[in-house]
Amino acid sequence: MKLFLGIDIGATWTRLALHDGSSIVRKVVFRTPRETDSYCISNAIISAIRSELRDYVDSIAAVGIGSIGPLDLRRGIIVGAPNIPAKRVELARPLLEELRKPVYLANDCVAAVWGEKSFGAGKGCENIVYVTISTGIGGGMIINGALLLGKMGNGHEIGHTVVDVDRRLRCNCGGYGHWEAYCSGANIPRFASYLIERVPSIHEYRSSKLYALWEEGKLRSEDVYRLAREGDPLARLVVSEITKLNIAGFENVVNLYDPEVITVGGSVALNNVDLVIEPVKQAIESGRGIVTEPPRLVPTPLGGDAVLLGAVAIAMDPPPQLVKLLEYLSSL
Ligand SMILES: [Zn+2]
Repeated sequence: MKLFLGIDIGATWTRLALHDGSSIVRKVVFRTPRETDSYCISNAIISAIRSELRDYVDSIAAVGIGSIGPLDLRRGIIVGAPNIPAKRVELARPLLEELRKPVYLANDCVAAVWGEKSFGAGKGCENIVYVTISTGIGGGMIINGALLLGKMGNGHEIGHTVVDVDRRLRCNCGGYGHWEAYCSGANIPRFASYLIERVPSIHEYRSSKLYALWEEGKLRSEDVYRLAREGDPLARLVVSEITKLNIAGFENVVNLYDPEVITVGGSVALNNVDLVIEPVKQAIESGRGIVTEPPRLVPTPLGGDAVLLGAVAIAMDPPPQLVKLLEYLSSL
């Protein structure tokens, strides 16, 4: 039996899936080590393989990795990721040396869009965009059948496109007005604070639960959506401001890439399909603000496994555009 190992490396969780071509055979999940050592993540993956997947190692034909970035695909490493302590993380080489099988590294959203084509809503399509709204905002694109990557594999950072021309908030990357700085899980509380501090008639919202949480300094992104759903007027106001910027972000995506289908993943979007995805879907399908035929816009059918199954898909069917960039493979 031929097996494929998919690895999803996130800022919080690392997940491994052994796949036999039709379904996941084994899954291993552990916390991503938060140390400054360049090998801490690859060592943790190798020890998980040795202890949990020992019996399957000989059957593994190839490994695919979907990782947080930024990446240097040529060398197979993560470089200067804002969400983990290690400045440089060696990923591909240690796994190549351990398993002696091809190891294909890609950005997490790039992996997810490839998975969408193999297993998800992009089956049979040549033009697919995957957008994640999670801790951050990111995207992966397949256009005319080709995976888009950029010179080091960091292309298509759509979370860092400008959606607020007034540039009210500064993004973690240093830029102003970026989509991620307003609408991602990590930044929604900050945008909510900005809005609450500037509501002219804020005294009218004194009974708002959102206002109370904000005053206590305990506001989280999930509260904003939960309270909006419960009818809290201040939460609804914040959600409507977030929605405007989400629509701007998706309009940019449609006008830039002209996709047949956009699939949306990430916990913020998938936990709030009614308040995050539905309004964007309606706006895009209306055709206003876009210069092409509207694409289908759907929550990813792969759910929380979008990146993991994407990593599996990359191992099963490595995209030629990606393989060309992975110079480290020549050391196999
Ligand atoms: Zn940015």
